[in-house]
Amino acid sequence: MKKLFTVMGILVLLLSTFLWSVIPVSAYNLIGYYWEGHVLPDPLYFFIEDDVSTESWTGWYNGHEEWNEAQNSPTNFALTDNIYYALVDAFYSYDSGMGISGQTWYSPSSPGDITSASVTLYEYITNGYPYYKRVSVAAHEFGHVLGLAHNSGAYLMESSDYTRYNTYGIYSPQTDDVDGVNYLY
Ligand SMILES: [Zn+2]
Repeated sequence: MKKLFTVMGILVLLLSTFLWSVIPVSAYNLIGYYWEGHVLPDPLYFFIEDDVSTESWTGWYNGHEEWNEAQNSPTNFALTDNIYYALVDAFYSYDSGMGISGQTWYSPSSPGDITSASVTLYEYITNGYPYYKRVSVAAHEFGHVLGLAHNSGAYLMESSDYTRYNTYGIYSPQTDDVDGVNYLY
């Protein structure tokens, strides 16, 4: 019997080695933009526009904290009240026509080095969200700011708010999200 167990053990080991080699280990996707000249942990200053709702303000504030506090995350988002220091401008829109909850823009608009970025929450949608679901959207947009693209599944970069938050309960960067940022910086 001892020999049989040994053979089975080897088979299981081979099978798991095989599975490990065909299932991709890294899951993050990159968008092609990143802060080429940015040396971490230099702060990535962001400014929250004065006219955003309290809901959006706390969403942005807690979204940046989730990134800075995530395990192994190299990020150092820092809130500034002086827009001249800001590399990232966080604002809001009340546009209801697009049906999306958040958006990120880069400057310059072609992939490569980012010199500044803007993020918005579509308050028509997000102000109806529970608190952590709104944080989930803000942290997701900050993930785009860092250079991450969408990724399907239990990740902060999952594009669907419903899947990300309602299904998986995610409002902070997961290991694969952080791995993507550590790859870039
Ligand atoms: Zn997105």
